[in-house]
Amino acid sequence: MSNISENLKSIQNKIRLAEKRAFRAENSVALVAVSKFHPAESVIEAIKAGQFLFGENRVQEAAAKFDEIRAAGYQPNLHIIGSLQRNKVKEAVRIATCIESVDRIELIEEIEKQAAKINKTIEILFEIHTGEDSKAGFTSEEELENAIKLCSQGAFPHICPRGFMTMAPFTSDTSLIRKSFVTLRNLRDKFQQDYPSLKLSELSMGMSGDYEIAIEEGATIVRIGTAIFGERQG
Ligand SMILES: *Cc1c(COP(=O)(O)O)cnc(C)c1O
Repeated sequence: MSNISENLKSIQNKIRLAEKRAFRAENSVALVAVSKFHPAESVIEAIKAGQFLFGENRVQEAAAKFDEIRAAGYQPNLHIIGSLQRNKVKEAVRIATCIESVDRIELIEEIEKQAAKINKTIEILFEIHTGEDSKAGFTSEEELENAIKLCSQGAFPHICPRGFMTMAPFTSDTSLIRKSFVTLRNLRDKFQQDYPSLKLSELSMGMSGDYEIAIEEGATIVRIGTAIFGERQG
């Protein structure tokens, strides 16, 4: 068995154990395997081991890689998880099923425009700034609320908002990491209550170093790279 398939097994195992510890339903947490900086062959290895959902943070790298993988006959799903420039939205919409890193209304408008052109419905998560280190995410709660309100009013028919995403601060202080995840969950609960017509159930939080804490705090999606594919260059 290859390292990748062994690592996947071990991570899936730990996810199931964390679900149990947190009294969460089995399989309530989805694994996004983050393949950035790793080649198409590694992704295919993961697919052969039963993993069908991947995450990439650079659109150009992802497009080349996933076009190659799909041309080889595989049909993985892809989430874009990195900060997105407006001029990359067209490609992102083409290759992904979900854009997790939506952090401004301008981006939502561009996603709608590009998705409409190819008549595709794309899922999005609202990225929230919950820790001191990360600069990504909506800068004001006012703009976030505005975005969610517009979605609830049907302003973006090709976009399906599914929830929220965050990155915890890079620190060994687990109480700060936990606080960041709790902040995201509380925000989700508040907006889900205020906008019941939307299904904002997803919480994408937790990476290789902190996913077990994230699951304890309600993560429905964890994004794991290093612990599956190994260290990356760059
Ligand atoms: C790279 C990346 C991950 C995965 O990080 P690992 O520590 O390698 O598991 C998760 N989320 C985002 C947004 C990333 O850029």
